[in-house]
Amino acid sequence: MKYSMREMSPREISALQVGKTMDSVLPITFPSGFVLTGFTAHCAQCAREFEGSELRADHQWLNGSTLSIVAVANCSECDVVTVTNRRIKSDEGGTRVEFYQQNGEWASVPFVDKKKKKGVLAWLKAIWKK
Ligand SMILES: [Zn+2]
Repeated sequence: MKYSMREMSPREISALQVGKTMDSVLPITFPSGFVLTGFTAHCAQCAREFEGSELRADHQWLNGSTLSIVAVANCSECDVVTVTNRRIKSDEGGTRVEFYQQNGEWASVPFVDKKKKKGVLAWLKAIWKK
């Protein structure tokens, strides 16, 4: 097993060794009513999207509206460990995802439901064929 990018923190190592799979952690309901049903992460080496069963997760509430998720996966294709660090914040202002960047700062983007997006795309394709 190789480590990608950087040395892992104790929390990340713990997630990899004893964390539950992402599939078993989800769904997570926020006090705002938002329900997190999916979590996407890609291998840092081969860019393959991990299955929920491959991701080991550690999730902790930072406060009533913000959930910190560390997801770690040891890629079966290239044997590299990828750590994905996210904060998901949901309150009356909406739901946002925060990404931990290489420079040590957090970037924030509006939450996009990939399943719903695919649903709209499928719907558009269906309309197009008619
Ligand atoms: Zn890989």
